[in-house]
Amino acid sequence: MTALSTLSADTVLILGGGLMGLAIAHQLARRDLPVCVISRRRGEAAGFVAAGMLAPHAEGLSGDQLRFGQLSLERVPSWVAQIEADSGLPCGLRSTGIVVPFTTREDRDQYPTASFGSALNRRQLEREIPGIATTWQAGLLFEQDGQIDNRRQLMRSLESACVERGVQFLEGVEVLELFQSEAQRIGTRIRDAEGTETEHNGAAAVLCSGAWSSQLLPQLPIFPVKGQMLSLQAPRGALKRVIFGPGTYLVPREDGLVVVGATSEREAGFAEGLTPQGQSTLKQGIASLLPEASGWPPMERWWGFRPCTPDEGPLLGKGPFPGLWLACGHHRNGVLMAAATAEAIADCVSLGRTRGDLETLLPCFRWQRFDSGVS
Ligand SMILES: Cc1cc2nc3c(=O)[nH]c(=O)nc-3n(C[C@H](O)[C@H](O)[C@H](O)COP(=O)(O)OP(=O)(O)OC[C@H]3O[C@@H](n4cnc5c(N)ncnc54)[C@H](O)[C@@H]3O)c2cc1C
Repeated sequence: MTALSTLSADTVLILGGGLMGLAIAHQLARRDLPVCVISRRRGEAAGFVAAGMLAPHAEGLSGDQLRFGQLSLERVPSWVAQIEADSGLPCGLRSTGIVVPFTTREDRDQYPTASFGSALNRRQLEREIPGIATTWQAGLLFEQDGQIDNRRQLMRSLESACVERGVQFLEGVEVLELFQSEAQRIGTRIRDAEGTETEHNGAAAVLCSGAWSSQLLPQLPIFPVKGQMLSLQAPRGALKRVIFGPGTYLVPREDGLVVVGATSEREAGFAEGLTPQGQSTLKQGIASLLPEASGWPPMERWWGFRPCTPDEGPLLGKGPFPGLWLACGHHRNGVLMAAATAEAIADCVSLGRTRGDLETLLPCFRWQRFDSGVS
């Protein structure tokens, strides 16, 4: 295992080995920078929890978040191709499209992203989602939205791609403190898996500790939003599109597994575990969308914490100290936004700025926007 003391002074420290940490580490390594990922607990990352929808339109995003989500969605195929080429492992990207059902045509036409989708009447909706409950009389089909199998494939493939590119890993290691050290460097106090504490000074670090990021920098307005999930084993091909209903969605994987999500529990804090109420909410959601799915056997149940901010948009770019970069707070769209985030932050670290179409957008996600009232 990598020891902190063996790292060179120019090693970029990635603080958090979840989805953002891995995606950024991979892009930095592709730019030939020395990188070390410090990860407290692999399994708690929301990257292993998410449904993996790539859904800027189905989610009804607007403004800067919609634009950033769209730019990231455009990048996903080439980003995935890089990861798969480096790792030799598939990421599970599927272009299934996503259907959003509505009870009335008026609701459908007022959806924030309606102009990006194809309007469906009841007959067309049934053709896209055979067996959808009769409550739903209209729909929007977003062919351009998709999904990726983050839980079983993308995260593993990213880890492997990082290893192949020479990224070093410190697993079971917790960052206890983050500060600006004397020589304009980023100081970190770290406890390893055996309980030994050390300090490390580096030239650059990226904070990507997900829902826990404000524990290291209390000035960041990030808080956890718990989500409970489950999966069902459907007959293969029984569901061809993702259904994105209000409060519940069904995401069909290639092998017939259907991922069902998700509760959104702001009051739960970091309370771990499943709850009967959360699971029964999902059960009711399944029945209200696709009655026949109530008969598909449950395979697995799990939970995790979305890193949320007051406007539900990420915190990206320069952090409070020179050399510290932020990539956190992606709330419910981190899988979607990972491709653009990784490119933008890798550019920031390696060049000091972003490039191209991300350059004008990145300042919209600066962490100080809440202080100035700009959201
Ligand atoms: C139920 C649910 C469903 C979701 N569905 C979708 C979806 O369909 N589409 C989509 O785009 N997004 C979805 N998301 C959101 C997405 O999963 C997150 O936005 C994304 O994973 C955030 O990535 P991250 O790297 O910031 O955080 P994480 O993936 O949570 O990783 C953070 C890591 O930091 C580590 N860490 C924390 N503190 C420390 C410390 N002090 N020292 C060392 N390491 C530390 C943790 O151990 C963890 O491994 C969903 C999330 C949830 C919870």
